[in-house]
Amino acid sequence: MFLKRIELFSLFGFRVSLDLSWVFLAVLVTWTLATGYFPDALPDQTTATYYWMGVAGAIGLFVSIILHEFAHALVARRYDLAISGITLFIFGGVAEMTEEPKSPIAEFMMAIAGPVLSFALAAAFYLFEASTHTAMELPQFSAVLSYLALINFVLAVFNLLPAFPLDGGRIFRSIAWWWTGSLARATRISSWLGRLFAGAFIALGLLNLIAGNTIGGIWLMLIGFFVYNAAGSSRMQMAAATLLKGVPLSRVMRSNPASVPADISIEALVEDYFYKLNHRFFPVLGDGDLKGCIRLDQARDIDRSQWRATRVSDVMTPLSEANILDVGYDARAALEKMMTGSGSHYMVTSNGRLVGVVTPKDIMAYLAIHLELEADAVDGLSRARGST
Ligand SMILES: [Zn+2]
Repeated sequence: MFLKRIELFSLFGFRVSLDLSWVFLAVLVTWTLATGYFPDALPDQTTATYYWMGVAGAIGLFVSIILHEFAHALVARRYDLAISGITLFIFGGVAEMTEEPKSPIAEFMMAIAGPVLSFALAAAFYLFEASTHTAMELPQFSAVLSYLALINFVLAVFNLLPAFPLDGGRIFRSIAWWWTGSLARATRISSWLGRLFAGAFIALGLLNLIAGNTIGGIWLMLIGFFVYNAAGSSRMQMAAATLLKGVPLSRVMRSNPASVPADISIEALVEDYFYKLNHRFFPVLGDGDLKGCIRLDQARDIDRSQWRATRVSDVMTPLSEANILDVGYDARAALEKMMTGSGSHYMVTSNGRLVGVVTPKDIMAYLAIHLELEADAVDGLSRARGST
């Protein structure tokens, strides 16, 4: 779903990023405001004025979405939940959780914080507009404020639909979790309801499309597909979390991995290791000790004429937190580490000695096999054949 993320700034310790797909949303919002909404709301202005109003409306929406996500993130922190950051993308914003909430109340409070803030913003824009529109004699400004009051109200209401993983769906899940006592079962019910809503969005979008409302129709259908996918992947994440719970790395890693000596040339590395063993990553040993690791792309980035003269030790990545894990480390935590971007290839050690390597592929292979054989045992999660 994400194209390319650009980091904007950090606030209260959360980094705020913009996905390139958001640019499409910004253009679409500005354009529909300038050519449809504002000409209806405030007739007899110039085209340029409508575009300025459109840009102001889009910026106001942008700030409103960031504030909505900050409300989620700050409440999450209050309940000790790790949030890796806030990303704005084509369908708005998302506060990225790296773990599931610890209790139903934590999930409930975190989920409801966003819509509550959007309602508050709607009220604030409404009151601001009401108290300034006679005194200011700036109908364009008043029209933008009215739009922001309306859009925040719509955002709050839309997010409260019980379509998991929208906020309303999370609120629903927290209640189902509290009721059944099982997060896995609550997730299963919520993602089923989420996909039902997604189907309704798609059907409604199709009806709009047939009725001639092209943009609205396509938009509803896209949101439907997004919710459908997200509901499905939340369910898979839950299955992964359940299956990996308490599993040490020793059970998912590749044991006794081939390693390369630090003093061989890149030419020898390519010929004798990458070409012969077909792995993209090797631990590097020097004098019998683990020194670091080398990846295929590190060799590729060196000019071919230098392959004979360059040693593996010249280009390898030295040992660090970002490439070593202990053999007893939790596989689920390791996968989270890999997903949040702090390195994806790890060497596994026991008392400082290399005993294995692990990549997301190894963990996925473990999950695929266990899901195939034990799906029914994972608290009623239905069989997910082929979707891993
Ligand atoms: Zn929200």
